[in-house]
Amino acid sequence: MSTLDDLISRDATRVWKACGVIRHLRDRAELSALIDDLDLIRRSTRNLKLGGMVRPNSTHLEFAIRKLEFVRDSEGCFCLLYTHDDMFDPEREQTSGNILIKSTVKTPDGFVDHYVCVCLICGSKYRVTEREYHYTWWKWELEPNFNENDS
Ligand SMILES: [Zn+2]
Repeated sequence: MSTLDDLISRDATRVWKACGVIRHLRDRAELSALIDDLDLIRRSTRNLKLGGMVRPNSTHLEFAIRKLEFVRDSEGCFCLLYTHDDMFDPEREQTSGNILIKSTVKTPDGFVDHYVCVCLICGSKYRVTEREYHYTWWKWELEPNFNENDS
């Protein structure tokens, strides 16, 4: 079954799963195929109850659609999408070969405060704040005046 089949199935679990696939998909050909069906995806998911206990699962669908629109409308690096969502784990992105964690800054009690990351595709630098409130989330912010000596 394809990601498109899952997206338009009106089955909450399958839609959620498909949104997870889109979140990490970087193949522009595969994404473009989905963009061709963007109207169908919007119609098929309208008013669909996606549930979610502490974080509404609808945010995954909103992000998936935003990502398809981003790829449709721009040639920008995929890393720009990190700033539009709070579910991108820097360690996972590093394992996937998308970014490099240059440093990890901890709080005095040993928790991660933030990471300094570099996109391995376009070289953009990010400060990524890690927080936990019911679930772990990350805030990605571009560092336009990044100073190499700070890292
Ligand atoms: Zn980038």
